[in-house]
Amino acid sequence: MPTEPETEYDPELGRKFIFVTGGVMSGLGKGITAASTGRLLKNAGFDVTAVKIDPYLNVDAGTMNPFQHGEVYVLKDGGEVDLDLGNYERFLDEDMTFDHNITTGKTYQHVIENERAGDYLGKTVQIIPHITDDIKRRIREAATGNDVCIIEVGGTVGDIEGMPYLEALRQFAHEEDDDDILFAHVTLVPYSKNGEQKTKPTQHSVKELRSIGLQPDILVGRCEDKLDIDTREKIALFCDVPTEAVFSNPDVADIYHVPLIVEEEGLDEYVMKQLDIASEALPPEQRENRWRELVTQETTGEVNIALVGKYDLEDAYMSVHESLKHAGLETNVEVTVDWVDSDEMSDHHTDRLHDADAIIVPGGFGSRGTQGKIEAIRYARDRDVPFLGLCLGFQMAVVEFARNVLGLEGAHSAELDEDTPHPVIDILPEQYEVEDMGGTMRLGAHETDIKPGTLAHELYSSTSCTERHRHRYEVNPEYIDRLEAEGMTFSGRADNRMEILELPDHPYFIGTQFHPEFRSRPTRASPPFVGLVEAVLDAQTADSAAETGVSH
Ligand code: GLN
Repeated sequence: MPTEPETEYDPELGRKFIFVTGGVMSGLGKGITAASTGRLLKNAGFDVTAVKIDPYLNVDAGTMNPFQHGEVYVLKDGGEVDLDLGNYERFLDEDMTFDHNITTGKTYQHVIENERAGDYLGKTVQIIPHITDDIKRRIREAATGNDVCIIEVGGTVGDIEGMPYLEALRQFAHEEDDDDILFAHVTLVPYSKNGEQKTKPTQHSVKELRSIGLQPDILVGRCEDKLDIDTREKIALFCDVPTEAVFSNPDVADIYHVPLIVEEEGLDEYVMKQLDIASEALPPEQRENRWRELVTQETTGEVNIALVGKYDLEDAYMSVHESLKHAGLETNVEVTVDWVDSDEMSDHHTDRLHDADAIIVPGGFGSRGTQGKIEAIRYARDRDVPFLGLCLGFQMAVVEFARNVLGLEGAHSAELDEDTPHPVIDILPEQYEVEDMGGTMRLGAHETDIKPGTLAHELYSSTSCTERHRHRYEVNPEYIDRLEAEGMTFSGRADNRMEILELPDHPYFIGTQFHPEFRSRPTRASPPFVGLVEAVLDAQTADSAAETGVSH
């Protein structure tokens, strides 16, 4: 029988907690600052994990529109979560689970279910203690087995939705030893017209925090430049922290450089000292250095990739963009992305693709822009341009091939055209009866068997791969023989589901029903993305060889 949430200290649980709140305004990149600090703690030998708190009423991010909120990130256990968890996975190189994203919807749903089950034995069920206890329980459970857990509270201090979380943190601080817990507050330090760094917004935001009983230990000022010493001293005085506890987080061109800035500022050392773990850290010369080496290496070339999607918000394709950067780090080239709106490309208007070295058609839902995606795929197939199709992009590659190679007029995905005469992409059999929208797709990590001797086999150097999924539709088994007879190879399968397609006669044409972008990390780039960049480099080498041949 579920009991009242546990709040007693259990030594098996995480040992140290870093809470990160934000002030003044959202979108300051506090997640990246937190993840960067976590990266440095990992480099120093600690096991680090993270929790993202989203104070919205959605149970998870799965039902949220990516063009308003950014992409829905998918975890290995099938959790559909906020994209910040993607940043934590990439920076920490750790797999998270659904429990690492706490939302108001999840917490209330759980407490209300317990209430209906009669678990509170006649008590009045209230935000304090029932919701706050549930929040604390979730944080402690997610931290289990790690040395350090970073907990980022979404939104801005002062938001009504955030209040129960801040109260839970206050109680948390009350329950834990002082050196087991650290509060970092990230704020904005703007410039005045006459070029002065202004601390007033920070002062106000800290005042707000203190009024709810939280005193920050560390302040991080997001500013165009580093904070001047005068600015740091002023913040220290007004916010009651030592000057060495005030750090800068200046603008950088590439988020992967933030750990280097954090290290330069000494934030990681300060955190270790405050949490009393400095003596357990590896000495600086023994710390993991691969990240720094990768992100500071000189690149030797440039590759331009067209990403054909719907462009209301580039964050909707964050993991795809990051995966391309990782492939660039692996191959030592600079990868630039040309964001091409699929709406611009109907009726053979593929001009926007002429400068692209390669094309990606990413995942998506709904019919807007479909025709443009199909045109882009046709262009890539006809002209031997390296191509990668992801989920919906994979499905559209099947539709394009069915229409233009098999001659099946009107072939389509049943999702996008219910009345198509040729539903080459059809609903998954297990989805027929599903009515709820939340958490009901085929989600999370599933294994794919890879056919030996194929491009997929070469890319993964294995006869299997395990990648993350998020879809309701798949290749209709009735069309597989016809598609394969005309030259499309399904090189990856999971039982009778088609997972990877390729065209052996093309330099690089591959599609995946899964989303490899959710497993790509800066230090472990995803094979289909690396393959795409390498295919471009091969083509560039062949071109320059041909040119040299002509001039001699
Ligand atoms: N809409 C398609 C499906 O549900 C593709 C999903 C996706 O690209 N993530 O199968």
